[in-house]
Amino acid sequence: MAKRALILLGPPGAGKGTQARMLAARTESPSISTGEVLRQEVQRHTELGERARKLMEAGELVPDGLVNEIIRGRIVADGGRPLTILDGYPRTVSQAEFLEDLAGREGIQTLAIGIMVDDEALVGRLSRRWNCPRCGKIHNGGPDAEGEHGRCDECGATLIQRSDDRPEVIRERLQVYHRLTQPLIDFYRRRERYVAVDGEGTPERIFGLIVDILEKQDRAAEV
Ligand code: AMP
Repeated sequence: MAKRALILLGPPGAGKGTQARMLAARTESPSISTGEVLRQEVQRHTELGERARKLMEAGELVPDGLVNEIIRGRIVADGGRPLTILDGYPRTVSQAEFLEDLAGREGIQTLAIGIMVDDEALVGRLSRRWNCPRCGKIHNGGPDAEGEHGRCDECGATLIQRSDDRPEVIRERLQVYHRLTQPLIDFYRRRERYVAVDGEGTPERIFGLIVDILEKQDRAAEV
């Protein structure tokens, strides 16, 4: 079967990161989050991190060339794997064109899954979101919702809140999503490589919908 890249598309807070983690665990596949790579670069004060920091704090996108190079490096490094999960990339039409070109040369078939949630629900979700800096688990309900006294229920590390999960930055990120990323729905729809799932409901329910789509694609490829 052809190698595949699964693109998780959707507004900030739709659950892309949570689904990427669940899918990576279930399929033993690499998952690449450009946002996570960038946050690590910011923390390490690398040149890339310094270039990205202000834009990320303001809820803007970093330049296409920076994220395209991150993706090129990782996709080539993960070359032999049957499935790669992309969380938060591509986010502009120009990134999608870059990815399609790269995927074509690497023999990788892309499929975009759009996780759809209303803006109003997203603002509430994002302001309640706390992240584990050690294992990456996303906690959706404030620092005490799942962990004990602000600790991750999976690995025990102290949870942190992302600096861009503040209401004013969240609104900017949503606007950026509608202006620059939403057009990708049409981009992939025109290529018949787009499926939407309803992003309301529990992570397990949404995970079930995504797994069904992947299995359907597997069966179609076998025929
Ligand atoms: P995320 O963790 O996916 O919400 O990304 C956090 C931030 O990282 C975004 O608001 C952008 O500033 C930056 N970022 C992540 N992925 C991309 C991308 N594909 N293109 C441009 N900027 C990105």
